[in-house]
Amino acid sequence: MSHAPLHPDTLAIHQGRSVDPATGAITPPIHTSTTFQRDADGEYRRGHVYSRQSNPTRQSLESCLAALEGGSEALAFASGSAATMSVLQCLKPGDHVLVTDDAYHGTRHQLEQLFTRWQLNHSRVNSCDAAAVEAAIQDNTRMIWIESPSNPLQGVSDLAELSRMAKSRGLITVCDNTLATPVFQQPLKHGIDLVVHSTTKFLGGHSDLLGGAVIHGRDFSLAEVLRDIQTAGGAVPSPFDCWLLLRSLSSLGVRVRAQAASAVTLSERLAEHPAVEQVFHPMHPGHRDHERAKHYLPGGSGLLSFTVNGDSDKALAVVSRTELFTRGTSLGGVESLIEHRASIEGPGSHTPDNLIRLSIGLEQVNDLWRDLEQALSIASS
Ligand SMILES: *Cc1c(COP(=O)(O)O)cnc(C)c1O
Repeated sequence: MSHAPLHPDTLAIHQGRSVDPATGAITPPIHTSTTFQRDADGEYRRGHVYSRQSNPTRQSLESCLAALEGGSEALAFASGSAATMSVLQCLKPGDHVLVTDDAYHGTRHQLEQLFTRWQLNHSRVNSCDAAAVEAAIQDNTRMIWIESPSNPLQGVSDLAELSRMAKSRGLITVCDNTLATPVFQQPLKHGIDLVVHSTTKFLGGHSDLLGGAVIHGRDFSLAEVLRDIQTAGGAVPSPFDCWLLLRSLSSLGVRVRAQAASAVTLSERLAEHPAVEQVFHPMHPGHRDHERAKHYLPGGSGLLSFTVNGDSDKALAVVSRTELFTRGTSLGGVESLIEHRASIEGPGSHTPDNLIRLSIGLEQVNDLWRDLEQALSIASS
């Protein structure tokens, strides 16, 4: 075989796995052991001491996640929120963080409620506007936290421009890549320092595991601090969840491309529907950041939002009528979900009251469309 770099779809299946020489088993085992045998001379030459620090199943997962993002190291966490928390804990009291203004509400909650008690300051900024980000930098700013595309309005940030600006000022850049997944966007290639994932979403893909990850390149200066927070803080995933996620990663490419293709089809049909006011999907030509999205995320994402003509009651009525789309929060699973987003985000959210968010699963797209059409008929009348 030639030594050309392997395609991510291939890495997703092979990286971090090998056939067990003792048994010939093709799928990796789940190493549930919390502790590992010392060598007779007291060393740990086989590499593992205690599972909070490292575990063979977690190591396989981390190796695969690092390869998918083109990073040098991945650290797996018990949830996306634990990953976010651990990255923010790398900072010090008095530091300041700039954060995408419509970032995930849990990220905003951590900054607003938990980290203010540590004197970690933050400001929300429209990260789709690089000049606005530059203008918001303060003397004590240490980190720019970007979520792109954002959620639910799907704003797309210019990652290369933001990382150039941050580098020239010695700031750390983070991109929450949960919505795009490495299939559509690899932030490290655009100069971003850290990629954060809620692997609960598209990476897990089946709504049956909680997980998070942080991936960085070779030059990340706080790598040791972050590792210490992971192993001493202990917010690590169980071996079973690591194994389940590794299993799910094998099908990541086919899943998210199919989900995104259906999201594009549904955006086109929704945009034509008389009960719909506006559609938010980065691949929709009417989207504010469509040109940038074509560069950064060809394919888009399996998430889409739209506003109905009418108020929040109208939106809630539509949400109450779907049969295939299940009402629920979260995203990225094989089953489609529908949600009135303002209800879950609460005060401080910039989400319009008449907005409905859809997470597109793997059901046949015409079945999904028929379900939306019958639900929307209540809003057309
Ligand atoms: C869900 C989500 C998170 C938080 O992840 P959990 O696994 O629920 O803790 C963070 N960022 C984004 C973009 C998310 O969608």
